[in-house]
Amino acid sequence: MAAGVAGLAGCSPAANDAAGAKADSANGGEANGQPVASDVHIHNVTDTSWMTPPAEVTDFATMTTAFFPPTEHQLSELSGIKFWPSVCSFYGECNQTKIQMYNQAAAEEKGAQFYFATTAEYLIMEDGKVAGMVASTDDGYMKINCRAAVIACGGMGGNPDMMAYFMPDMAQALTGNDALTSMSANDGRGVQMAYWAGAHLETTPIPGMNMKGLSVPGKMNCLPQAVWIDENGRRFCNEYYPTSEQRGYQTVFMSRKTKYAVCDNNFTEYRQYTLPQHAGFTASEENIASLREALDTAYAKFKGTYEEPEQTEEEGPGGHGPMTQVEYIADDTLEGLAGQLGLTGDAATEFVAQIERYNGYCEAGVDEEFGRAAEVLFPVKDGPFYACTFDPVLGETMVTMGGIITDGDMNALDANYEPIPGLYMAGNDCGRRFGTEYITPIPGVSLAFALVLGRECGKSVAKFLG
Ligand SMILES: Cc1cc2nc3c(=O)[nH]c(=O)nc-3n(C[C@H](O)[C@H](O)[C@H](O)COP(=O)(O)OP(=O)(O)OC[C@H]3O[C@@H](n4cnc5c(N)ncnc54)[C@H](O)[C@@H]3O)c2cc1C
Repeated sequence: MAAGVAGLAGCSPAANDAAGAKADSANGGEANGQPVASDVHIHNVTDTSWMTPPAEVTDFATMTTAFFPPTEHQLSELSGIKFWPSVCSFYGECNQTKIQMYNQAAAEEKGAQFYFATTAEYLIMEDGKVAGMVASTDDGYMKINCRAAVIACGGMGGNPDMMAYFMPDMAQALTGNDALTSMSANDGRGVQMAYWAGAHLETTPIPGMNMKGLSVPGKMNCLPQAVWIDENGRRFCNEYYPTSEQRGYQTVFMSRKTKYAVCDNNFTEYRQYTLPQHAGFTASEENIASLREALDTAYAKFKGTYEEPEQTEEEGPGGHGPMTQVEYIADDTLEGLAGQLGLTGDAATEFVAQIERYNGYCEAGVDEEFGRAAEVLFPVKDGPFYACTFDPVLGETMVTMGGIITDGDMNALDANYEPIPGLYMAGNDCGRRFGTEYITPIPGVSLAFALVLGRECGKSVAKFLG
């Protein structure tokens, strides 16, 4: 039993607009008038005073908040969905380990005991109530007697079989070399333990973090300002669907052939219309300059005038955020660009016709094909023209986002939707926080859920234990 909290991301000024945040971020909804995890989170996230660890002013000075202060054309709302900058980054002196040490020390001062390198195996139940837990270490098994347990094992990303069960929509969409994979090693034991103890499973499919699309952040999904074209020369979705996590949905059932993001010479201007969310781009002067350089490099290569600069040792990759280091292909004409992308025959003809059609939508302010919002319809008409290629990948999730149903006290419910005495859930083992996919109008909402619901869970356990 452990709750690994990776930082304070998500402690957001957005919390001030709790009602808006609830509508936008917690698309899990309410069931039968019962409060669900998303409600509990929203109604408690406004109080962040307790989150301040005993960190020093110098610690806070080394933290930054992504997308804040906002850049000139940064959007805060698109198609009726609001967004807020909110991710604290700890790349300086005060890193996540330091924050965790602060938290551990504060907990130990209040009498908490930590068991590291200790794996929770299963709960001991007596008369339907939690009575203890069995855990394993290198030295064997140990039994812990307790009346309450909080399961916070962080989901099932390290267990492809469980992912296939809980995410049948993705499992069934796999083809060729696709596989369900995750950046998380957590093996689903938390959900298993709760289930064996009688807890009710969430209805499938559960969400994965940034999984349900051909591209994960860092790829095509991060270039919404461009026009996305498939191997037939056609657009295939609203490239600037406001929530990045759901932008990719349309691609799940497409071929795994290379896709293209296409833009014109004004892309450095259009790229600045970005949303503060997962896969968002920080339009800093440095990043825009880096984009210009990438486009100019592509054009010089096209013209045959490019000279490889000498690398000095100090020069790192440069740039921050997704898609700051992309290799583009340039051409003076759309026909030429199509050829360079390998499009021939009907696909090449359609490519040019599609871009012209799309430019018509930009002029009219109405995207008749996919409903892209007028304020982000950026034409592809001033050459040189540029494109980058994307080889689709399907099935990778950062973490899984659900499993066990709880009530508003974070108390796991049984098959009759009755609370199981002593069994509580927090973090990614806890269900009913999102719809079928994670969503980030408040980036960092996942860690915020883990923190806020973890604390609400603690309050419930204290009440339960009297
Ligand atoms: C690459 C990456 C980037 C991310 N970026 C962001 C971001 O920018 N913003 C954001 O909000 N979220 C982000 N997330 C997601 C976020 O980290 C998680 O959603 C969050 O940490 C979930 O908290 P948790 O307490 O449920 O699980 P975790 O933080 O995973 O903690 C679970 C802990 O339980 C331990 N554990 C597992 N099984 C057992 C067992 N049987 N016995 C004992 N211990 C066990 C694990 O070792 C782990 O320490 C990211 C995730 C990844 C992988």
